[in-house]
Formats: sequence, C-alpha cells, structure tokens
Amino acid sequence: MRILVVEDDPALRLGITRTLQAEGWQVDAVTDGEYALAATATESYDAAVLDLGLPRRDGFGVLQHWRGAGHDLAVLILTARDELPDRLRGLNAGADDYLAKPFEPEELVARLRAVTRRRLGSASNLLAVGALQFNTDSRELRLRDERLPLTPREAALIELLMASPGTAVPKSRIVSAMSSWEANFSPNLVEIYILKLRRKLVDAAADVAIVTVRGVGYAMEPA
Ligand code: CA
Repeated sequence: MRILVVEDDPALRLGITRTLQAEGWQVDAVTDGEYALAATATESYDAAVLDLGLPRRDGFGVLQHWRGAGHDLAVLILTARDELPDRLRGLNAGADDYLAKPFEPEELVARLRAVTRRRLGSASNLLAVGALQFNTDSRELRLRDERLPLTPREAALIELLMASPGTAVPKSRIVSAMSSWEANFSPNLVEIYILKLRRKLVDAAADVAIVTVRGVGYAMEPA
C-alpha cells in the first residue's frame, strides 16, 4: 500500500512517516497543499493522511480538488482540535474519517487500515488464492497452517497479486506500489522479486502460480 502524508509540522510528519513505514507501507511525505496536489498528479496512492491546516492550500482545498478530479484514494484528515465544524466540513468534502491531534500511532494505523479497507470494498482483511492466505493487517502469508516469512517488499508484491487473482497486475502498478521517493524501486527489480516469490511458493509446494502476462505484467492464479 502506498500512502501520501501531508503535514507541515516537521516532527509530526517524520513521526507519521516512520509509523506507517514500520507497517511495511510505502510512504511519501509532503509539507503543503500544493505539493500534495503535485504528488497525486504524478503518482498513484491508496490512501492519504491529510492535515487540515496547511500552508499555500489547506486540507479542505486539497480534498475538494482530489474528489473533484475523481481521485478515489482513502483520506484520513487530521484536525488540530477535536472541533465539530472542521470534522463535519472535512467529512462533507469527501474525507473517509478524521483523527484529532494529539493521537497515538496505533490509532492512526488502525484508522488508516479501516478507511482503506472500506474504500476497497473489502470487509475482510484476508486475501486468499488456493490454500494461500495473506492477512493485510498482520502482513502474514500462510499456506494452510504454515507461515511463510516475507520481507516488507515481498509482502507488498504478494498483496497486489492476491488482491486480484487471475488478473494481470501491470508492471508499472507494481513499481509504483513498491516505490517511495525515499527508496526508488527500479522496474528491473520487479522481475527479481517475482523470481524470489515464485521460488518461495514452489519450495512451500503452494497450489498457486505467478504467471507472466507478456507486455502487461504478472498474475497470480491457482495452479
Ligand atoms: Ca498544520
């Protein structure tokens, strides 16, 4: 999952970024509303953590622009105080949920999980293909009862493939989901990660296969 953090307070921005990265998510962080719009104009995000009080263009303006342009990323707004008018205005402008400062890192992660799950229309945190199950909350991959260890990037790749079994995931989408500005992900690395995952699945005798869809990308299918 790739997340945009929009927060002008440097300490808070860094804290949120580190918290979300620790969950294995790819995070880009920007300091104001104009940078937020520039980021979503060129990159594709699953979710945004959006502060309301921002320089240049405030969070309401960013949100209105996103929704007006049809961006369907999940948006969690941060309000400085637990003020009803701000919350209502944000929710009316298309935010999925809000969090009042100060907040605990655990609550931020839990709210973000909930809003992205809602927006993806999925009631469950389990993705399944054949006997393979991936838990999008704990980031654990299990084959029947056996846990298969994954690196955070392998988990990101498995999540993408298992979210739409039998459908080719474009290579560009994989690169975008596995990149952040802090750690760029070269398209050449996709093949290396696919090879690693295939080997893990074969070694575990999983009943699924990652097939190459020529000129498009990769798809996971029951074997
Ligand atoms: Ca602020």
